[in-house]
Amino acid sequence: MHEMSLAEGVLQLVEDTARREGAKRVKLVVLEIGRLSSVQPEALTFCFDVVTRNSVAEGAALEIVDVPGAGWCMQCAATVPMAELYGSCPTCGSHQVQPTGGTEMRVREIEIE
Ligand SMILES: [Zn+2]
Repeated sequence: MHEMSLAEGVLQLVEDTARREGAKRVKLVVLEIGRLSSVQPEALTFCFDVVTRNSVAEGAALEIVDVPGAGWCMQCAATVPMAELYGSCPTCGSHQVQPTGGTEMRVREIEIE
């Protein structure tokens, strides 16, 4: 399950931020998850709860922002919405679509106190 290592990566970032800011507690972590990133939000939420136990982020709320997928269709020469990573263009049906958005996961915000 690759969500576990992703959750550990997020925790690392959160702990670094908390240490730098001298925070006592982490209240909220906002994560952006792209639809084309193949990250399962439910699995990630579960893993986040597990890895933050006994850390400064224990009990922190995790908010997940869904980022829609987008790609560049070579046939249409236009940016088109994409529902899946190796999906086809919704306009012309071509499979020559290069993913350009919603392919990654990133931390948008960390709320500490
Ligand atoms: Zn197209």
